[in-house]
Amino acid sequence: AAKRLAGKTILVTGASSGIGRSTALEFARTSPQDLRLILTARRIDSLCGVAAQIAKEVGDGVKVLPVKLDVSNPDEVRDFVGGLPEEWRDINVLVNNAGLAKGVARAPEIDEQDINVVFSTNVTGLINMTQAIMPIFLKRPDGGQGDIINVGSIAGREAYPGGSIYCASKAAVRSFTESLRMELIATRIRVMEIDPGQVETEFSLIRFSGDKAKADAVYAGCEPLTPDDIAEVVVFTATRRENLVIADTMVYPNHQA
Ligand code: NDP
Repeated sequence: AAKRLAGKTILVTGASSGIGRSTALEFARTSPQDLRLILTARRIDSLCGVAAQIAKEVGDGVKVLPVKLDVSNPDEVRDFVGGLPEEWRDINVLVNNAGLAKGVARAPEIDEQDINVVFSTNVTGLINMTQAIMPIFLKRPDGGQGDIINVGSIAGREAYPGGSIYCASKAAVRSFTESLRMELIATRIRVMEIDPGQVETEFSLIRFSGDKAKADAVYAGCEPLTPDDIAEVVVFTATRRENLVIADTMVYPNHQA
């Protein structure tokens, strides 16, 4: 795996916490000698914390570029790519991980703002990033080369009451991913999706607007996955030989039906 990552540049969105943070650390641990990691999110302080953690764990063989970026803002996304220093432009792997749930309510009561935030982040944000990075992949020979790994959710396959907006957003991610994969068949651009089940991160706290009791109740009586579990799957997916595409992966904790 380390050999397959050597010399590569990897971009992880939503790397300031949870699955994205763990994914950044897992890439660094897997290829500690020769790797570039571009880490993006809105909380730049947290990204700098992740960069410091990587430096502490693996030293300076892994170069880290933390960048404040709101994926839902197309202008910011365009400026981000245009403004990348030369040595950071040759991106090989895009992990579209940034996402959130808001507006847990029955459909008639869902707040309009929550609908916009969820869709503009999970769906439009992921598409913004993909469109911005794809020209880099498409410039490579034989129709292009690179990896796109989208973090979807089991919620995109199995809807539940009160989750309509989030579930619909992740179903949209799934459809977008499948269309893109088909468009790029027979190129060396792999389009892959990983759908986690319950993972204990800041996700539930944000989903319930900071209500810790409600967030904790999600995990009562069960053992959720850890962000490191998903990070291992992301890195495994990114480090198979080029002709092997792990197109679609569901990752559940053992208790989750
Ligand atoms: P966290 O809340 O810990 O992480 C979410 C990340 O997304 C943060 O780094 C956050 O950074 C970033 N983010 C949110 N909005 C934006 C935005 N507009 N622009 C840029 N970055 C943004 O939750 P998870 O790690 O659990 O979530 C990661 C992904 O996993 C999400 O796509 C989520 O839907 C998915 N998922 C999570 C599951 C779970 O049970 N936890 C289950 C299935 C899927 P910042 O706030 O700094 O911008």
